[in-house]
Amino acid sequence: MRSFLALTLLAISTLIGCQRDSDSQPEPVQYIVPAEVEPFIQVFRDEAQKRNNAVSTTNLIITFGTTQSGDVCGQCLLQSGKTPRITLNNDAFCWQQASQYERECLIFHELGHCLLKREHKINRFPHGAFVSLMNPDNVDVYATCRYPIGGDECDKRPRRDYYIDELFDPSTPTPAWGK
Ligand SMILES: [Zn+2]
Repeated sequence: MRSFLALTLLAISTLIGCQRDSDSQPEPVQYIVPAEVEPFIQVFRDEAQKRNNAVSTTNLIITFGTTQSGDVCGQCLLQSGKTPRITLNNDAFCWQQASQYERECLIFHELGHCLLKREHKINRFPHGAFVSLMNPDNVDVYATCRYPIGGDECDKRPRRDYYIDELFDPSTPTPAWGK
């Protein structure tokens, strides 16, 4: 009797095991991005292409919602065999009152996690500016004139170019304004 019971339990657990396996089948390639976010993905593609980076954006799900963990305004969920998922917090602080640059920084940061497989980088230049868009605390590194360092402090373009260079290539040298 005892051994039969053990066998039955074994059979049940095997069945459950199989079911789990079928649940973890790889997801098909899918692309679901809100229309409001799509222009930023197009810019990301263009910037990747300019730098000869072959990163694919074809398998990606982005939704607006509440972030459970990860960064305050965004979250990247990477699971083996599943489509990378980005959740963006669309509250006033993170999205509705954010500038186009701030939105771009947020999306590029999450794409950095989800597509470029980058981790956070907390290093700063001597003047205090973050070295990378992949810093966990400030997604407006080039959106505002918050770091008065060198030259025209409101000249955003050189900084934007640098930060996007660094996003695609972490070994990008320190720019003149960062020294
Ligand atoms: Zn992050």
